[in-house]
Amino acid sequence: MTQPLLSVRDLHVNFGTGEGDVQAVRGVSFDIGRGETLAIVGESGSGKSVTASAIMRLNFGADVRVSGSALFEGQDILAMSEEEVRLKRGSDIAMIFQDPLTALNPFYTVGNQIAEAYAIHHHGTSKKELRDLVLDSISKVGIPEPLKRINQYPHEFSGGMRQRIVIAMALINRPKLLIADEPTTALDVTVQAQILELISAMQEEHGSAVILITHDLGVVAEVTKRVLVMYAGRLVEVASVEDVFSSPTHPYTRGLLNSVRSLDSERHSHLEPIPGTPPSLIDLPSGCPFHSRCLYAASLNGRCSTEVPELKAVGNSFSACHLPTAELLSLVKAAQ
Ligand code: SF4
Repeated sequence: MTQPLLSVRDLHVNFGTGEGDVQAVRGVSFDIGRGETLAIVGESGSGKSVTASAIMRLNFGADVRVSGSALFEGQDILAMSEEEVRLKRGSDIAMIFQDPLTALNPFYTVGNQIAEAYAIHHHGTSKKELRDLVLDSISKVGIPEPLKRINQYPHEFSGGMRQRIVIAMALINRPKLLIADEPTTALDVTVQAQILELISAMQEEHGSAVILITHDLGVVAEVTKRVLVMYAGRLVEVASVEDVFSSPTHPYTRGLLNSVRSLDSERHSHLEPIPGTPPSLIDLPSGCPFHSRCLYAASLNGRCSTEVPELKAVGNSFSACHLPTAELLSLVKAAQ
């Protein structure tokens, strides 16, 4: 069997705060192969961005405790020295953040910043080679007049154009893995689709694997093939993008879809928000973390509030729910 590009196993991330421990990620495991795309979806506070930061070893202060493993080409990123991680970051693994302004230095031209992203991993590259590479990368991400634009500063670009520059910086080293954390959330709706198309096109050209972190299920359908749904720090459903949309198995995934279905959908004439709010990650409930919001919990005689459900195969998907598989499948059928 081919070795996955990245294999995450039993990842836990806890933050110490004055009010107690925030259990942000609790036992997340998944693989991603070379050139594959997957999305990690969930509401804010579900642990999706913390999972990405853990893989990149970002924002790990003294109060953060991480356990588990994240094997990248067989090497555990979580066990690497700072220097080893610094060499991987930006070359083999790159990240695109939600707000392009925070990723760009306002005092340097965009050309210099893209050149720096390459030169830091390729010592000895000549000025001419660097300039050619920067011009090429900036043209590929669809920025017109590259000769003029490389000498401009971030504030001279629109939000969408700045995100294109960040994508050019992330991809100039042809990373094997690109992590995009809410890459379109800060952008106008009209620009969002263009940025998603660009990520897809670049991914195809470079053959990079892509992990897309998002709360927006619409974005998932555009870019990825496989979806991991997170709730309260745990994976609750793993499925193909087609199955998540046509036959979601977990009650939370169904709730998430019902709360975002378009108003002109034939089957849903109104949005149905999930009742209640996600649990506090400092004071997590026992059992299934979704039980206080779940319509089916009452039918399981208290099991949902005492026993944590593990992921199990349900049809083509995996779902962390105590409902019997046959019942989950019949719910899927009834909703179709
Ligand atoms: Fe609902 Fe119980 Fe399934 Fe959790 S385990 S999703 S509470 S039915």
